[in-house]
Amino acid sequence: MLVYKKEELVRFVEEAKPYARDGKVADYIPALGKANPNELSIAIYMPDGQVIDAGDVTVKVTLQSISKIIALALVLIDCGEEKVFRKVGMEPTGDPFHSIAKLEDMQPAKPLNPMINAGALAVTHMIRGGSVEERLVRLLAFVRRLAGNESISYSKEVAQSEFATAFLNRSLCYFLKQHGIIDEDVEELMDLYTKQCAIEMTCIDLAHIGLVLALDGRDPQSGEPLMPPDVARICKTFMVTCGMYNASGEFAIKIGIPAKSGVSGGILAAVSKRCGIGIFGPALDGKGNSLTGMKLLELLSKTYSLSIF
Ligand code: GLU
Repeated sequence: MLVYKKEELVRFVEEAKPYARDGKVADYIPALGKANPNELSIAIYMPDGQVIDAGDVTVKVTLQSISKIIALALVLIDCGEEKVFRKVGMEPTGDPFHSIAKLEDMQPAKPLNPMINAGALAVTHMIRGGSVEERLVRLLAFVRRLAGNESISYSKEVAQSEFATAFLNRSLCYFLKQHGIIDEDVEELMDLYTKQCAIEMTCIDLAHIGLVLALDGRDPQSGEPLMPPDVARICKTFMVTCGMYNASGEFAIKIGIPAKSGVSGGILAAVSKRCGIGIFGPALDGKGNSLTGMKLLELLSKTYSLSIF
């Protein structure tokens, strides 16, 4: 087990905070533009139930792209590997998350991986259920189990703000529909996807989800499997190869922890067998990653030799 001390974590947060000055809060989803760029919080969840945190961990963060990992786990359970990877590939793109450029690269056309928006939309399409409402209820139930928190829900404000402005994502959906990757109504898929991205939780909840992944899908409290070990393995592999957008290679070299970031400034990280980490720092670099969050992870990884490589 890692012996993190609260004072040390507080010191790391202070050391990382100044990096916010080079970053910018995402505002292409208008509601996200309200975040305070100087906010920085972190929670580390250990297998024995101990939580060490620093910063204001009561602040809630919307998952945004972090939700792509959770939706992927759910559809892998729902539909199985074969069906999922018929609709979405396994390769990193090196392009920004909302890029449309490589969509035609695979023959037959399909998104290169489930972490770019096109792939994530194809994944959300596969969440089972009769209506958007039913699928959202299933997704939320899964998120609540992973986070060990029954009160988790989504931010209506952020979901509506994205729904009203998601023109690029709509165009990705129409491409997917044209190529037979999705066959549902685009507005319905956008409704579900924007609510999925707006699911909100604290860093502590996020760290709990990281711990479940770190424990190969097991609930840290009950030991019950919340997802098969193979599903956790696939999710963590995508976190390494494309979890930090088109900065995943550099992140793997400098930090080496399976992690997934979102444009809200959240980062979910899973240190195999050792801990889950949740971070919220909304000042982003040009690729969409939390600058302060990455600095914090770098300090932790170097201090405690957390790189899987
Ligand atoms: N909801 C955001 C979008 O689809 C998620 C992007 C992200 O966090 O990378 O644009």
